[in-house]
Amino acid sequence: MNAVLRNPMLPVDALRRPLRDLRLSVIEACNFRCPYCMPADRIAEDHGLDAASRLSFDEIETLVRGFVRLGVSKLRLTGGEPLLRKRLPELIARLARIEGIDDLALTTNGSLLAKQASALREAGLRRLTVSLDGLDADVFRTLSGGRGEVDDVLAGIAAAEKAGFAPIKLNCVVQRGVNDDQVLPLVERFRGSGHIVRFIEYMDVGTCNGWDRQRVVPSAELRDRIHARWPLRPLDPNYRGEVASRYAFGDGRGEVGFVSSVSAPFCGDCHRARVSADGKLYTCLFAGEGRGLRPMLQQGEIAFSEHVAEIWSRRADRYSELRGAAGASRKHVEMYLIGG
Ligand code: SAM
Ligand code: SF4
Ligand code: SF4
Repeated sequence: MNAVLRNPMLPVDALRRPLRDLRLSVIEACNFRCPYCMPADRIAEDHGLDAASRLSFDEIETLVRGFVRLGVSKLRLTGGEPLLRKRLPELIARLARIEGIDDLALTTNGSLLAKQASALREAGLRRLTVSLDGLDADVFRTLSGGRGEVDDVLAGIAAAEKAGFAPIKLNCVVQRGVNDDQVLPLVERFRGSGHIVRFIEYMDVGTCNGWDRQRVVPSAELRDRIHARWPLRPLDPNYRGEVASRYAFGDGRGEVGFVSSVSAPFCGDCHRARVSADGKLYTCLFAGEGRGLRPMLQQGEIAFSEHVAEIWSRRADRYSELRGAAGASRKHVEMYLIGG
């Protein structure tokens, strides 16, 4: 049993879910304009925030220490595109030293990774997820909003491998008729590489991607397609609350994962808080409003953690279970502000 469940002083929310996992955006800006996240025609270039509104490294360190007091042991840095944040390795080195953080990870679009992989590794980053929605150069370019080249991302993955990241998780958001033809090529390319491809159902995050349920490809369908070519067998989760369901290739050449947020919601095991780059706490990926944490950060890590515990204890979010039903919120924070 982990420390969170053993310690009765740690907060649980209104649905008895502890807080274990923090996803922290270090920047709201991005060099891509993926149509499902930050469509260029809907999000202004400056999107209303600037560098001055971002939490400083001192504030971030206090914030993470405060969350550790509440039971958080897993920390993922995200964005926007986190590799655009200046002096990121310096921040990582500070966070990697915090006692209680057992798992420090980062999600990136990979376009700037080739140059930064070894500095990130040396700073203490241990786990990396790279988004990769296709291998075909044209499909990839379209899915990055015309701003990314798949070869840069592949070079980033190779550099990360060389720097010692293993396994690397490769996330592909699948949309029917857009990139579902990329699924088998992605599996073929990375089977046996030691890296893990994970297919994510296209979600109705934010307010501007024109989400259409018809474009969601249920994980079960993808799993069957892959199984028909390379037989799969289910694996146990690595830990309770793991969002991806895991399958091993029958021939021993690694595994694939599926994140089924639309077809099989997992709110009951959701132990995750999200904080935007300007210091707002979101208790759900689909929350409408964030709570500004900055004023409390000035009061130090203890007062800060008491404040967050209070917010967490009132949390009752379970949007994916309610999706479409009365009571499900319609106003959602944009994905690029909280990083997935
Ligand atoms: N820029 C980095 C990247 O793309 O990896 C980190 C931030 S991005 C918001 C985090 C993840 O959210 C990416 O893997 C992206 O594919 C995923 N994402 C964005 N919009 C999504 C959507 N509508 N449905 C499912 N996943 C989405
Ligand atoms: Fe940028 Fe990541 Fe959003 Fe794409 S998914 S626009 S790379 S933040
Ligand atoms: Fe967690 Fe909200 Fe996603 Fe449910 S919908 S799993 S509560 S983030």
